[in-house]
Amino acid sequence: MCGNEGGSVFCRSLRVVTEGHQSMNWDQIYEWALWLVLGTSAVTFPALFFITLGYGRHDQGKSMLYVPSLPGWILMEAPSWIVFPLTFFLLGRHNREAVPLCFLAIWQLHYFYRGIIFPLRMRNRNKRKPVGAVIAGFLFTGVNGFVQAYAITNLSPHLWTPDWFADPRFIVGILLMLIGVSINIHSDSVLRNLRAPGETGYKIPHGGLYRWISAPNYFGEMIEWLGLAIAVWNVAGLSFFLFTVANLFPRALAHHRWYKERFPDYPPGRKAIIPGLI
Ligand code: NDP
Repeated sequence: MCGNEGGSVFCRSLRVVTEGHQSMNWDQIYEWALWLVLGTSAVTFPALFFITLGYGRHDQGKSMLYVPSLPGWILMEAPSWIVFPLTFFLLGRHNREAVPLCFLAIWQLHYFYRGIIFPLRMRNRNKRKPVGAVIAGFLFTGVNGFVQAYAITNLSPHLWTPDWFADPRFIVGILLMLIGVSINIHSDSVLRNLRAPGETGYKIPHGGLYRWISAPNYFGEMIEWLGLAIAVWNVAGLSFFLFTVANLFPRALAHHRWYKERFPDYPPGRKAIIPGLI
């Protein structure tokens, strides 16, 4: 589309990036980024048993700077759906094969929901989000988008042949993803319907997996990324699953404690995150 010389500003910038790509050692950068995701998970998991990130119901008004919830959420998730396709098309050596393109479509579909549809449907427009949480989310989603797209298109030869579509790991992983997405979307919609437009308070959720656990939206999210990790079968996918657990498992326990402290009639048999267990 752009040719080798001249062209629009877009084409010239594209060439600078792709030519730079040949001289820079992107494999090395990928390794650092992967270690960053793994290291963040290793630190986050134990830390969040002692500190609860102060956004949503756990915000104690201690942050110096806040942004309105809607743009805050959109900004925080934007790198996911921008960095992934940029990495995929500009740095991916195997970006024309069917399986990587299928994962690109899955990723973009998820983040179209999470980054645009979900925040637009939130009922907490009047609330604020701490700037620190938005910056941390923004940085993480950018690094993670790069790591996932780079691994799929450059470092996972098993994904570059259509045979992978028939592999049990692909089939089981995609099924798990579908189950996780369904649980997550349904659970988020139960929460959304607890509030009338403009309301900001909290009520006890019922229905679906709320019968058994306090945070089925997080449970669904964890199943979803476990599914992706199995379907892509690479260390990058595993690192994102580990990060999701490190982030959401302790937060689910904090949500559960919070409900029990606030609502004397909270269902006594309900667990936090794993039905029947925890
Ligand atoms: P929460 O469950 O804390 O809140 C979800 C939404 O529902 C918020 O708008 C919240 O309002 C509202 N809400 C929650 N509980 C109640 C209640 N009892 N009564 C009325 N309204 C309620 O989820 P998060 O905001 O932490 O996450 C949102 C989504 O993003 C989830 O699906 C989660 O899985 C996903 N996510 C994924 C991450 C990952 O690492 N992959 C990281 C973080 C989130 P308010 O904001 O006012 O509390």
